[in-house]
Amino acid sequence: MSIVRQNLMTREGYTPYCGAERCLYTWPRTFFNGHQFRCKCGWQSSFEPAFIAAYKAKLANDRGNAKEVRS
Ligand SMILES: [Zn+2]
Repeated sequence: MSIVRQNLMTREGYTPYCGAERCLYTWPRTFFNGHQFRCKCGWQSSFEPAFIAAYKAKLANDRGNAKEVRS
């Protein structure tokens, strides 16, 4: 597993940097759009569906944990 994938699965709120060869915005961190990680410049990651599914399950789990802490 790559470091990026490892971080995505273990660090809350982590997103990868833009991977474009030339980024208009000087390679900021990307945001998750529900399918892939995107940059404002239009670049998009290309994780396979199985990884994205695992990541979404992890996000849902993070949210569940946050709720428990609050109540
Ligand atoms: Zn970019």
